[in-house]
Amino acid sequence: MTKDIGLAHVRAIAPYVGGRPISEVAREFGLDETKIVKLASNENPLGMPESAKKAMALAIADLGRYPDSNGFELKNALAKKFAVPFEWITLGNGSNDILELTARAVAKEGDEVIFSKHAFAVYPLATQAVGAKAIEVPAKEYGHDLDAMLAAVTSATRLIFVANPNNPTGTYLNRALLKTMLDKLRGRNIIVLLDYAYREYARATDLPGPMEFYRDYPNLIVTGTFSKIYGLAGLRIGYIVAHPDVLKKVGKYGDTISPSQTALAAAKASLGDEEFMKMTREKNAIARKVLTD
Ligand SMILES: *Cc1c(COP(=O)(O)O)cnc(C)c1O
Repeated sequence: MTKDIGLAHVRAIAPYVGGRPISEVAREFGLDETKIVKLASNENPLGMPESAKKAMALAIADLGRYPDSNGFELKNALAKKFAVPFEWITLGNGSNDILELTARAVAKEGDEVIFSKHAFAVYPLATQAVGAKAIEVPAKEYGHDLDAMLAAVTSATRLIFVANPNNPTGTYLNRALLKTMLDKLRGRNIIVLLDYAYREYARATDLPGPMEFYRDYPNLIVTGTFSKIYGLAGLRIGYIVAHPDVLKKVGKYGDTISPSQTALAAAKASLGDEEFMKMTREKNAIARKVLTD
């Protein structure tokens, strides 16, 4: 009896396995936690900025209440930073949350979702969770092959995930390539989700600005996260920028599970902490050189 509980396509999902916690590895091998360096999940090894800790400590006083489901202050800060209208922003409990909500809002059984091989591990999971068919397109030099991805589009395609830069391979798509893709999909009932989780680390000058395309392509969704350069992975907070008509679909779920006050406050502080961002970027550049050398 119990084996029939739940939807078959959901039962078939092998859950995302994240990097193992340091404490677990220390226990298993009898090691000192302070001697272990975790690289698996690309968290910010500097931790969260002091400014975010302070803001979070203040926000604790308010935790007996439900959070502001509109996330007014953080959305306002994002709107200012990216020069996008407030109505074009929605928040989520991490950007994974947003990827899943988007799949849920636009794809169902019988629909197709396209992503590249060697792209972010959550794309196939989000697709499977809604019973849609995953179309994994072979990669080109470990990066997205946009021509091949376009060639995979059918009348059943509803969503295309693009990680830029990509995790885990570190490749990226430049402005011209992305624009060509978006132009070719213009007017189609297909959402292109541009996942910018690592945007802030990238140094390439031909990478489009974070919000360069959003106004021109109503079927484009841009997602960002506070988990990587902003150092707040454990708080679970991310955001989405898209045309308000698209947000009306995706945001329907988002409003009921808005991030906590502590996450909202820390994210706002972290977003405004240019110094921390700069330090993270610099230290990362040094470590990148050490690694590649
Ligand atoms: C880390 C990551 C995310 C999601 O991170 P959240 O912690 O859920 O915000 C999304 N996309 C990519 C490419 C990532 O590397």
